[in-house]
Amino acid sequence: MGRETVAFTDKAFIASFLELLQNLKAVAQTQGEVFVIAGSGTLAMEMAVANTLQHSDSALVVSHGFFGDRFVQIMERRGLQVDVLASPWGTTVSLDDIEKKLAEKEYRALAVTHVDTSTGVKAQIEEIGRIVHRYPKTLFIVDGVCATAAEPESMDVMDIDILFTGSQKAFGVSPGLFMLWASSNAMERRKSLGRIPDYYLDFENWLPMMHDPSKYFATPAINMVWALAEATRLILQEGLSDRWARHHIMANAIHSALETLGLSILAEPSCRSSTVTCVLYPQNLDDQFRSILNEEGLVVAAGIGHYRGKAFRIGHMGNIDVHDLVALVASLERALNSAGHLSQMGMGVSSLLHSLKKNASEHKKW
Ligand code: PMP
Repeated sequence: MGRETVAFTDKAFIASFLELLQNLKAVAQTQGEVFVIAGSGTLAMEMAVANTLQHSDSALVVSHGFFGDRFVQIMERRGLQVDVLASPWGTTVSLDDIEKKLAEKEYRALAVTHVDTSTGVKAQIEEIGRIVHRYPKTLFIVDGVCATAAEPESMDVMDIDILFTGSQKAFGVSPGLFMLWASSNAMERRKSLGRIPDYYLDFENWLPMMHDPSKYFATPAINMVWALAEATRLILQEGLSDRWARHHIMANAIHSALETLGLSILAEPSCRSSTVTCVLYPQNLDDQFRSILNEEGLVVAAGIGHYRGKAFRIGHMGNIDVHDLVALVASLERALNSAGHLSQMGMGVSSLLHSLKKNASEHKKW
């Protein structure tokens, strides 16, 4: 990102962009199309909807929290008929309920957030994909903003029609770009819609540039593209399954440390993500706790919705290592101790290391 910016017509830039696009197809394990565009994850949500659904179409949203609900808002503003299956925060919608809903009515799309960042809940996208597959008129849209490149995802195997994420999450780049992948079914759906009202978000406007970056549609964010190209190379160098396993092993170790420290996790054990954890404050601890952590150099996010002030969220995705985890848990211990909630220091770190050791022995790279 610190390089001197060049024109988007620069030959070396075009070569990097093309390599990035190829590598991104490998990350999502798809033969479909990929788009890399300046904007954040929310714009990717709009792009997914704008290119596949029209006014009055029926869509089903499976929501496990704040970002699932955002899908509903985006769809309703476009005049879609939206049905919502939502679960209490910390749990998932049952597969039977999804199955029933799809059998009841014809939906043009089903949208689900792979990991809802508000709750740390992971959806069963593979199982949902298998159900949606039985309804060929229903496209399967997955918000991978808090999951892609950290949680197992394979577009072609899981029958995902649209997947998207933002550069700032598990890719480990600054915010500014989103990546969206589209299956051939999604591209056909776009075609069937004819002219859509959206200009910047239209697949058909961007597609020539995504096949040949010298073809101008709108100016790419040159330095961000370089950064994403490097991050994507690192992801493939680590290897997808090793990267997924690392996230899983690390998340288990964090969860074990948190519980040893007497903290409760919002997400039920069966649906905890490997990328983010929403931690409930014990009695007598409030959001002041985040300021204590901040003094330790640790930035955690606030609870969202009715968990505002009642929980905090730890992001643990991307290019992190064991040192980051030890620093995290040690800081939590010091902050709990200074808030009068922990007398014996070291228990959390020891539980973290024990869990890492136990799980690592089953995985060759660890
Ligand atoms: N979906 C999910 C799951 C997210 O976590 C976020 C952002 N945290 C978004 C969508 C929206 O992304 P952005 O903030 O980049 O617009």
